[in-house]
Amino acid sequence: MILGSFAEGHWHTPVNGRDVLDAVTGDVIAQISSEGLNFEAMMHYARNVGGPALRKMTFHQRALMIKELAIKLNEYKAEFYELSYASGCTKADTWIDVDGGFGTLFTYSSKARIELPDEPFYTEGNTEQLSRNGTFLGQHVMVPLRGVAVHINAFNFPVWGMLEKLAPTLIAGVPLIVKPASGTAYLTERVVRRMTESGILPDGAVQLVCGSVGDMFDHLTCQDSVAFTGSATTGMMLSQHPAVTKNAVRFISEQDSLNSSILGPDATPEAPEFDLFVKEVVNEMTTKAGQKCTAIRRAIVPKDLVEPVSEALKARLADVKIGNPRLKDVRMGALANMGQRREVYDRINEMAEENEILCGGTGAFDLVDADYAKGAFAAPTVMYCDKPFEKLKAHNIEAFGPVSTIMPYDTVDDAITLANMGEGSLVASLFTHDNNVARDVVMGAGAYHGRLAIINRDSAEESTGHGSPMPHLKHGGPGRAGGGEEMGGIRGVMHYMQRVAVQGSPDIITAVTNRWTKGSSEAVDTVHPFRKNFDEVELGTTLHTKARTVSMEDIEHFANYTGDTFYAHMDEEAAAANPFFGRRVAHGYLLLSFAAGLFVDPAPGPVLANYGLNDLQFMQPVYPGDTIKVRLVCKSKKGRPGQIYGEVRWDVTITNQDDDVCANYELLTLNARAE
Ligand code: NAP
Repeated sequence: MILGSFAEGHWHTPVNGRDVLDAVTGDVIAQISSEGLNFEAMMHYARNVGGPALRKMTFHQRALMIKELAIKLNEYKAEFYELSYASGCTKADTWIDVDGGFGTLFTYSSKARIELPDEPFYTEGNTEQLSRNGTFLGQHVMVPLRGVAVHINAFNFPVWGMLEKLAPTLIAGVPLIVKPASGTAYLTERVVRRMTESGILPDGAVQLVCGSVGDMFDHLTCQDSVAFTGSATTGMMLSQHPAVTKNAVRFISEQDSLNSSILGPDATPEAPEFDLFVKEVVNEMTTKAGQKCTAIRRAIVPKDLVEPVSEALKARLADVKIGNPRLKDVRMGALANMGQRREVYDRINEMAEENEILCGGTGAFDLVDADYAKGAFAAPTVMYCDKPFEKLKAHNIEAFGPVSTIMPYDTVDDAITLANMGEGSLVASLFTHDNNVARDVVMGAGAYHGRLAIINRDSAEESTGHGSPMPHLKHGGPGRAGGGEEMGGIRGVMHYMQRVAVQGSPDIITAVTNRWTKGSSEAVDTVHPFRKNFDEVELGTTLHTKARTVSMEDIEHFANYTGDTFYAHMDEEAAAANPFFGRRVAHGYLLLSFAAGLFVDPAPGPVLANYGLNDLQFMQPVYPGDTIKVRLVCKSKKGRPGQIYGEVRWDVTITNQDDDVCANYELLTLNARAE
């Protein structure tokens, strides 16, 4: 099979290429080369065909597209699983890569539809008043970058690795070119083939390079971005490319990470956390044969628990069946290829210069239905570093396979220091049932880790574990881990957008954001706003109500009727001593009720329900004898085609006889759409 690349709307297949081998049998499974591709033209195509098509769509349309894609790809799962076995993965490993990848698409799709507007851009935060009279305002708006996102991925997650970046990029409205690692590109290529056949994505939204990226980096512009996953050496080389530095190209890097897990001082062998810790270390060593960027490389345990932890790990690992990943009872498969095994063995040998090998190592061993000479199998290897403050190799060398090093600690502070000696990691976990230890570790280690997973008996059953990056949370870490941030829910989408600070008058800000801004023009009409259906109400549609005087009788009646006889409303003397009031005041809830009484139009009509109230603030007390009135302005509208109603948000301001603002809030109504 010669792997193709998808470029400028077509599949391009090279005449021949470099052999890619099956990780288990050593047979040639594919050939790969990007020879003949015009990388500059591919980038143009993305910018000029894919970008405009995506930018025409709203966040919701892009999110629905991603969901449709996930549903479609799911139909080909069996085919993807079959190819994944060739990379040495078991069924469980593949589930993480394939199903995990589709799950990421679903999560992103749903988050985008809940958290982002049905618009092609995003209005971030509140308006900033930049002038005394409010005629000049500032508002941050996020718009899609107009370039192409180049994704360079590692070999260990050929599907999830692609999709975790693809989802936020496409939702942002940015086209991408994905370049999978050559060793497992055959699986990525198949997924992209199914994607392109589906016709779900607009032309130019996704292109694929199998093989090297040629001169692509020379053509990067300030609107492009690069998201790299792989080794620190490659990451550094690419981030220093002249076009990247000259054009300040956004470059995020996810790279080597010496992740750690701390066994809390309270987690003695009798405590549930002890077993949970041992299970997790074994799980992280054997899942994907330890080729997970998040795997636990350093197991940091209280000094007096080194012995029981070592014994428990050895015993569990001895039970792990290793061999042909297609077999049901095989728990651990092979590394991705022989090159990786050589690499892992070199790292083990280097680390063994100062650490003791407790089990495993670099020799041949028995396999289930597989040949050690042909397949890239490596034994789970546990090492022991007796002086982790002096012997530093385990903190610096990443053996990207089933390898973990136990290191002892005396105090929690020491454990934190050891965890931080990885100089920045994707994730650290802590197994404790002691809340104080948890807080100390978060405060002491948080700055060095992208994620801290604290697991104990209360959360274990539902915990997603040490090693699983979740689409809702950022995946990335500082320092050695590359300083990158992928995913993280909507913040992952924003990475592919430009934040622009828009400055102008209230009317300008309203027009740009499609959200009524205080100070903008009001559209007062003879027709009451509540007589207008969703489609008739416009941004700025305003009602100024008549006034109403609040009497002492009203306050007492409200107090007795509701039971809210708080002293500030009922006790003149006590209210006089209150620093905010000085005398009896009206209930805030009375004001809200009176406001509704002033602005509501009672007859049945297009307003179906009042379903929320946001950002309520009482700014000024209302005293008996004060006269209030209300201004109601349509602030924003959200409606989906096909629905019989839409959501209208209203800005509500209650003022007194001196025009002081007494209360302000956002009111949400559901309004019927035009027939
Ligand atoms: P790698 O050798 O650095 O390769 C990573 C990617 O970079 C591959 O797609 C590779 O393509 C490409 N690449 C290599 N040289 C390039 C160049 N000159 N120009 C453009 N692209 C180039 O890393 P790997 O061996 O695949 O992955 C293992 C490493 O990745 C481990 O160290 C692991 O820690 C790290 N990793 C980190 C994460 C994370 O999220 N932090 C996730 C997974 C893996 P070719 O395959 O075609 O050379």
